[in-house]
Amino acid sequence: MNGFLPSIGLEVHAELQTRSKMFCACPVVDSTSARPNTAVCEICTGMPGTLPVINQRAVEYALRVALALDCTIEPTSLFARKNYFYPDLPKGYQISQYEHPLAQGGKLCVPLEHGEKTVRIRRVHLEEDTGKLLHQPGASLIDYNRSGVPLLEIVSEPDLESVEEVRRYAVALRQLLRYLEVNHGDMEKGVIRFEANISVRPADRPALGTRTEVKNLNSFRSLLRAVAYEIDRQSGVLAVGQDVRQETLGWDERNGVTLPQRSKEEAHDYRYFPEPDLPPLVLEPDWIEAVRRWLPELPSARWTRFQHEYGLSASQAELLTEERAAADYFEAACASARGVPPTEIAHWITGELFALLNETGRPIEECPLPASALAAVVALRQSGRINLPTAKHLLAEIFGAGGDPAQMVEERGLAQLTDPGEIDRLVLEVERNHPVQVAQYLEGKKTIEQWLFGQVMRAASGKADPQLVQRRLRLRLDVLEKNRPPR
Ligand code: ZN
Ligand code: MN
Repeated sequence: MNGFLPSIGLEVHAELQTRSKMFCACPVVDSTSARPNTAVCEICTGMPGTLPVINQRAVEYALRVALALDCTIEPTSLFARKNYFYPDLPKGYQISQYEHPLAQGGKLCVPLEHGEKTVRIRRVHLEEDTGKLLHQPGASLIDYNRSGVPLLEIVSEPDLESVEEVRRYAVALRQLLRYLEVNHGDMEKGVIRFEANISVRPADRPALGTRTEVKNLNSFRSLLRAVAYEIDRQSGVLAVGQDVRQETLGWDERNGVTLPQRSKEEAHDYRYFPEPDLPPLVLEPDWIEAVRRWLPELPSARWTRFQHEYGLSASQAELLTEERAAADYFEAACASARGVPPTEIAHWITGELFALLNETGRPIEECPLPASALAAVVALRQSGRINLPTAKHLLAEIFGAGGDPAQMVEERGLAQLTDPGEIDRLVLEVERNHPVQVAQYLEGKKTIEQWLFGQVMRAASGKADPQLVQRRLRLRLDVLEKNRPPR
């Protein structure tokens, strides 16, 4: 609707995929496939008399994200109890961070269609996940496997101003978590969940309007639909002169509407207090620096560098930096094929290789074709040693069964036929073997030329340089045409 501006902030919950849980030694398992209640112990099910212990690796993962988001790290942060009752929360409280979170005041650069947008990050804190309720007719079942899985909450300022900006922010954040190797980003398994706070205001008013919060958005699709719906709904309310009510909403995926969930709870409803069973979390500066040194080049920086350093287009660079493993593969191939233009390597990776990976349903991490082999094939093609069909065939074969490109070309005589004399000999052979077709050509059926070309390529077992064949065949047909006896 015209005349209203939306302001949207996101609260993202991302599981930290450590081996064990946040406060106990239970393994972190895939909550969609593991047998229910097989990864639980007395600590994560909240038995009396047990003591939680902080998982150092989870803190390290949280630190990676906080540093990558350019946050200020608190040297001492505190865990707190957030008290509420719900059947998926066996302890009756969630261990979280409240007044003293791990990190505050960062930013994420989000690529937009034209340029970049800096979205401010308010805070990043550590907490634990809850169990999962499975509702069935007549009963609700509880699976505590997810109870106590490390969870990172990343809260942005309400800087997002459209559904598209929300989408790009969510995509960029998921990509960052994958680059940092803290979360595999498989949304269908619920490892990243969103909550959005949304307000709209008349375009001429600087102060933000009253906001609503939409909870439990577990996919990009739900997130974007819910945000679009709320922007429309609130604009409609304001347009008829009414006020938006501050409330917490749920998203009804089937009907595509938000519904009031409960009256907005205030922080004091949770009766936060410092967790008495855990010491303050003190981060040594040396350790923070070690984690900072570990950080890989971040997606937006790599995207920019690929354009400058390798001369890739923005979209080629985007395809190759979407996943860190693909970007690594590309750089490894470039390093092993000096002299071959990087744009050619990029072309073969995003074309042939991505197609092969797609067909076999493999991620690039499990690519059976080493980057050096791809580089060798592209180099053979680039130098004219082999022709295009041979190059494609070699790639597919090595992808499936392995092999050394140069050796295969040598042993099987796959080298491209580039000797004009040899090609002329084949042209004459085809001419001799197909007098009827040649006569048809000379009588004016020009499309026969393409067929004759195919015959010459076949006579060369597909290895001839196609452009050279085209040229030599043309020359021969011209000669025949000139010498044709008049009718
Ligand atoms: Zn446990
Ligand atoms: Mn939370």
